[in-house]
Amino acid sequence: MKYDHILIRFGELALKGKNRSIFEKQLQQNIKMSLKLFPNLQIKRTYGRIVIELNGENHEPIVEGLQHIFGIHSFSLALKVENSLESMQKGALQVLKEHDEVNTFKITARRAYKPFPLDTMQLNREIGGYVLTNTNDITVDVHNPDVDIRVEVRETATYVTSGSYPGAGGLPVGTSGKVLLLLSGGIDSPVAGYLTMKRGAKIEAIHFHSPPYTNERAKQKVLDLAKTLTKFGSSVTVHLVPFTDVQKHIHQQIPSNLQMTIMRRVMLRISEKIANERKILALATGESLGQVASQTLHSMNTINEVTNLPIIRPLVTMDKLEVISLAKKIDTYETSILPFEDCCTIFLPPDSKTRPKREQANKYEQYLEMESYVNDAVERTEKIVLTSSSPVNDEVDSLF
Ligand code: ATP
Ligand code: MG
Repeated sequence: MKYDHILIRFGELALKGKNRSIFEKQLQQNIKMSLKLFPNLQIKRTYGRIVIELNGENHEPIVEGLQHIFGIHSFSLALKVENSLESMQKGALQVLKEHDEVNTFKITARRAYKPFPLDTMQLNREIGGYVLTNTNDITVDVHNPDVDIRVEVRETATYVTSGSYPGAGGLPVGTSGKVLLLLSGGIDSPVAGYLTMKRGAKIEAIHFHSPPYTNERAKQKVLDLAKTLTKFGSSVTVHLVPFTDVQKHIHQQIPSNLQMTIMRRVMLRISEKIANERKILALATGESLGQVASQTLHSMNTINEVTNLPIIRPLVTMDKLEVISLAKKIDTYETSILPFEDCCTIFLPPDSKTRPKREQANKYEQYLEMESYVNDAVERTEKIVLTSSSPVNDEVDSLF
């Protein structure tokens, strides 16, 4: 026997009363997008569950893909049978036989479809009895069985499962609006993007690059990181902002110890403009408190002055080691540590102030032609949409 279905359970969703159907639809859509490479799948919603009909597809890559999708509490390989006691009995026996070296089992029936004539006690007894009659040397253990066979009776069919895979938790991406992630090529910002998605936000990414001082491979690295984020259940649009002219201008006009602060302020202004154009209501960054000069409270305070969009900083309380372990878990770490320089490292002098003041930043910004540089950068921004089936690595080059 091969399992022919996957039964998907939601966690937190169930609590969300009237939003429930919006969440379920979004989750179904995200699952469809993530599994687009498996055309034979049928992905359907039934009340309180999503059911995938495998139609002959190998379940292994599908199980792998589902583990990343936010909004799933757990899921199980399942055998679909008719709503008759006889089919359930045979199905349970088949599922039991999938396991090796079983000494004890238990049947756990659940009636999501209440009109079914037998109640759960009767189902447990009738199905368990059938399994006992048709096997040797196996007994029932209701407390600690080797195999717990779950029989879930729904309106149109019954699903027989044993065991389950944990889901990623969180909320389906797309149910909490959109956030613009400032994505560098570093370790932190992809993790920040992942955590923002976990709470249901769809992200778009903005990346500042400085050709020809930063090269194609640095850009490719960022696209690879954004593409990795698509596996959590949504496409990611990347805005690539040409930042060379701005950086040169800052370099010429601003004392070296304030350049970093002002560069960040310009990044935020450009990000805000793009967010407004895209109807995005918040920004997200990979900042963590106290890591580097730009991330002291003084710096944040001065940099943050230029926008009143909320800035989500999911890493703000984390230690670097915690961030690294998450980066490894979500598969961005190896890409992040590739050695291509980003725009900030190339232009920046080593003597940045750790306590830049708002008054100073405002004073020196008067020497910049801020509006025209910001507008020009926004106008020349390149937009790339990545999905889970976008080509990876060098192949993406052909899109440009
Ligand atoms: P990361 O590991 O994400 O690069 P970091 O520890 O290097 O972060 P900073 O260089 O101070 O820290 O950057 C702080 C945040 O600013 C980043 O997490 C990212 O959100 C944003 N950022 C930095 N550089 C860029 C860039 N070139 N394009 C877009 N966002 C950037
Ligand atoms: Mg960085």
